[in-house]
Amino acid sequence: MILYKEALKLTINAAEEFETERINFGEALGRVLAEDVLSDTDMPPFDKTAVDGYACKRVDIFSDLLVIETIPAGMKAEKAVKSGQCSKIMTGAKMPEGADCVIMVEDVEELAGNKIRLTSKDTATNICYKAEDVKKGNVILRKSTPIRPQDIAMFASVGYTKPLVYKLPVVGVVSTGCELVEPEQKPEDAQIRNSNAYQLLAQAELLKCKTKYFGIAKDTEQSLDEIIKKAFAECDVVLFTGGVSMGDFDLVPKMLKENGFDIVYKSIAVQPGRPTLFGKHKNKYVFGLPGNPVSSFIQFELLVKALLYKLMGYEDKNVKLILPLSKDYSRKKSVREKWIPGVITTNGEVEPTDYHGSAHIHALSYSQVIFKVPLGVNELKKGDLVDVRQI
Ligand code: AMP
Ligand code: MG
Repeated sequence: MILYKEALKLTINAAEEFETERINFGEALGRVLAEDVLSDTDMPPFDKTAVDGYACKRVDIFSDLLVIETIPAGMKAEKAVKSGQCSKIMTGAKMPEGADCVIMVEDVEELAGNKIRLTSKDTATNICYKAEDVKKGNVILRKSTPIRPQDIAMFASVGYTKPLVYKLPVVGVVSTGCELVEPEQKPEDAQIRNSNAYQLLAQAELLKCKTKYFGIAKDTEQSLDEIIKKAFAECDVVLFTGGVSMGDFDLVPKMLKENGFDIVYKSIAVQPGRPTLFGKHKNKYVFGLPGNPVSSFIQFELLVKALLYKLMGYEDKNVKLILPLSKDYSRKKSVREKWIPGVITTNGEVEPTDYHGSAHIHALSYSQVIFKVPLGVNELKKGDLVDVRQI
């Protein structure tokens, strides 16, 4: 049994980054950037007004001012603003020459003779200055960053329309177990529905991976062997669920070894999910995840995600929230770190949810987070800080 942090390190170190490709920036959400992106422009590109109002000289704001023109956004001013004058200007329009401040339309009274007067005590400057946000040539996003909606807005702003990103892994999923039937089928006595495979496919799809489902393998050497050969011919990473623990018919590790895989680890000091296997053969990666759906869900979060991100060019820094616990917690054994489903209360505390163990998949449905009870810790008090991951 190895510690989680060792398993994480072994997983990340085993992963070799994929090649890169150029795609359309509108399809880049969730992909990982493979080069630094520079701005081709100052942002803003010119001094512009932040409000609808009247552009004038600050020294003039307490005098009545003559309105000399109206400047819509997208149009250049035709006249320079002189002493005693102002130009009506719309949000986003380029500032006219001679003006160094904009009085908001809300702070102005219109007078006869096309004049205006300030009605408030003072005014802010209300100008967004050229290059105050980004200078031409600045790096706007670094290599190895996962792309979010706000990054796509930046790509649009600087005209970076063909981002270079890492290629996506193809992830296969195989369920194992003679007790399993597919969801459309009504289970007979001693059978259960296969939920795990669909959960894992969805978890991989959330990371933008391409997925392939290979069905349910029986707990026999022949069935596993056939499916292993087929899955690895088509995928970069294959996730097996079930058949990796100590039962007489847990044959996945044996059959992976027979197919040339090195088993990097097969038991980790984490609850749930001790019998989690990770292996590699050439440029193919395999996880053998426990059959219980909460265990496989959590091990995907803790380890599979780290592998997939690394293949996609991003080292998951394992960023987590640290929040106070809403009530006391205790457990008898502490030889493994434990992850427990929870919700975040309106006070910003973590509340453990009603949870009966690793088969209790419904507990994850009404949870928002999982939180950690560290290895060696038997008791936590209300208010103690715990590591939290959103799920
Ligand atoms: P195993 O890891 O094969 O010993 O399975 C552990 C438990 O998880 C058993 O109760 C299995 O019936 C259950 N299980 C295994 N595979 C799945 C699956 N694909 N979906 C739901 N439950 C499963
Ligand atoms: Mg099984």
